[in-house]
This record gives sequence, C-alpha cells and structure tokens, in this order.
Amino acid sequence: MEHFDVAIVGAGPTGLACGIELQKRGLKPVLFDKGCVVNSIYHYPINLVFFTTPELLEIGDIPMTSLNEKPGRTEALKYYRRVADLYKLNIHQYERVLGFEGADNSFTVRTDIACYGARKIILASGYYDIPNRLNVPGEALEKVIHYYREAHPFYNQDILIVGAKNSAAIAALELYWTGARVTMVIRGSGISHNVKYWIKPNIENRIKNGEIQAYFHSRIKEIRPHDASAPGTAAQLLPGKKTVLQRRHRGAQQQGQSHYEKSLRLSDLPNRRALSVSRARQASRAKTHPQIFLTKLKDNRSGQAGAKRHAALTPM
Ligand SMILES: Cc1cc2nc3c(=O)[nH]c(=O)nc-3n(C[C@H](O)[C@H](O)[C@H](O)COP(=O)(O)OP(=O)(O)OC[C@H]3O[C@@H](n4cnc5c(N)ncnc54)[C@H](O)[C@@H]3O)c2cc1C
Repeated sequence: MEHFDVAIVGAGPTGLACGIELQKRGLKPVLFDKGCVVNSIYHYPINLVFFTTPELLEIGDIPMTSLNEKPGRTEALKYYRRVADLYKLNIHQYERVLGFEGADNSFTVRTDIACYGARKIILASGYYDIPNRLNVPGEALEKVIHYYREAHPFYNQDILIVGAKNSAAIAALELYWTGARVTMVIRGSGISHNVKYWIKPNIENRIKNGEIQAYFHSRIKEIRPHDASAPGTAAQLLPGKKTVLQRRHRGAQQQGQSHYEKSLRLSDLPNRRALSVSRARQASRAKTHPQIFLTKLKDNRSGQAGAKRHAALTPM
C-alpha cells in the first residue's frame, strides 16, 4: 500500500491550494478527485463568468489573467490546469474516495481503485454535488434538473426556474435571450439583494416588461409527470393542469385579510404555460420528458467548504 503524508479529497481550488502549501513545506500530499481537476468548475454553466476578479481566484502565488474584467469558466479551467502542472501535484483524477479508517497519523484511505496510507486527511470535497432540494412530490422526475449548463437546447421551450439568486437570474436571462419562454417561481417578494449589481436590474427589467414571467410569494407544491406528456411544448401543461404552485397572495393583506395560502395551478393563470425544458444531453427526449430547472445549490455562497478553502476565493 502506498503511503502519503496527507491525502486530500477533492482537487478543486481548495484541494489544489492545500496540496501546494503542503508541498512547499516538504510534505508528500496526494489529491483524489472523482472527476477531473477542478471538476466542479468543469461542470459549471458553460458560459459562466466568475463574479470575482482574477487575482481573487489565484492560488500558489501564480498570477491569473483574463481577457475581461472577470474570468470565464474556460479561463479558470486553463489556469488551474497550469497550476497543477507547475507544482507537479500528484493528482489521482477519476478516483473517488469511498471512506477512510484509522486514526491520526495512521489512516487508510479507500477509493474505488485502491487503498492508501495517510498520516492526515484533508476534506476539500466542496458542496457542488449537494443541490438544495425542494422536497416536493415529483422532484425526482426526469424533467427536473438541478444543474444548468447552457441555453441552446431550451430554445422555444417553456421553462420554469425556481429561485431568485445569482444562478437563477443568470440562467433566466440566458434562456430568455436564447428564445425560451421563461417563468420564475420565487418564494420572496423580489429578486434577491445578493444578486450581482450588473445582473439585478437586467432581470428586474425583463420581469417588469413581462418578458420573463415571475410569481413572487410562491412556492412549488408538486411537480407532476403528465405535464410533459402532450407533444410540443406549448400544449404541455394545458390539458392536465398538473403543476401546482403554492402561493401566498400579498393582495390578500390589502383586502384586510391575513396572509393565506392558496393552491394554484399554473394553467389557471392567464396566459400561463408552465415550464418544461430538457437537459442538454437529454435533448432528444425533451418532448416527452420536459424538465424543470431548480437553481439553488446547498450553501451555494459562502459555505464552510469555501471558507476553509483559502483566503483568495471570495463568496459569490
Ligand atoms: C455557478 C457558480 C459560480 C461561482 N462563482 C464564484 C466566483 O465568482 N468567485 C468565487 O470565489 N467562487 C465562486 N463560486 C464558488 C466556487 O466555485 C466554489 O466556492 C469553489 O469551486 C469551491 O472550491 P472547493 O475546492 O472548495 O470545492 P469544489 O470546487 O466543489 O471542489 C471539490 C472537488 O471535490 C471532488 N470530490 C467530491 N467528493 C469527492 C470524493 N468522494 N472523492 C473524490 N473527489 C471528490 C469534486 O469532484 C470536486 O472537484 C461559484 C460557484 C458556482 C456554483
């Protein structure tokens, strides 16, 4: 069994930064990633532009440059590949850590390929894999997706986006510009205050102009399968009235009533068609399995993993 000073689970920016610092101190680390180097970033939306300027994404004292003020996903991928190369980090890609046993100074790390000895273990596995689920019936349906990649497959499709923060707002705009019919379901009274200042007015104006439909004080109550059964997107939700929103009406207060909750069918709303989109790789099945895009990831912003990572990466 091969032995290392430190086994690092995850070769994202945090794992790489840890590996570099350990190597600088003369230790022998090994990094494991179940996917490629910076696997989470690889899976981000293809056109993603980071919210932070390049110098804040730097690790290992290696400068990062960008053609624009903020780097894009491709630039970040290239940068982190270069960092891994320069420091000659020992990265085991496509090797998932399944668990570890033992105690301090004498761990055994189990992966899906082999076992390794390690004195210490660093968990840098991030939180991208853990979507913040709605926990409503129907969420497991194939038409519901938690990860957005790109807009093109959703051209001329009806799409429902749940959430109102950065990921939701960016996806909604991209999809709208690509010719999708976008509806947003938002628990609160507006687009989140945390949405970046150059995105917020844009999405708010699209909503104000009716170009993107938004239902505030609303939450998804149930997602039903038959919404997708009719051929063609325009008719998908009309006959079945299947997708149900749970909605709190602000107007009720104005009428002297207390807040109340009302179950509301999407198709009851005037001019409303509910969403249905398909994942890029399932585009061929889109007509029979339309999908819903849920944007919120667990602790998507400044979670523990991000905080532990290193001072350079700032929260979204
Ligand atoms: C859409 C989006 C935009 C963002 N924009 C910014 C931004 O502008 N600025 C910013 O600072 N931050 C941003 N973030 C957050 C930032 O990308 C993350 O904070 C960063 O990727 C966290 O790095 P990490 O190394 O801690 O975790 P991750 O990058 O998630 O890396 C964790 C790694 O662990 C691997 N892994 C998980 N489990 C296992 C296992 N069992 N075995 C082996 N490997 C495993 C994963 O494959 C992954 O590669 C954004 C996040 C998202 C989702």
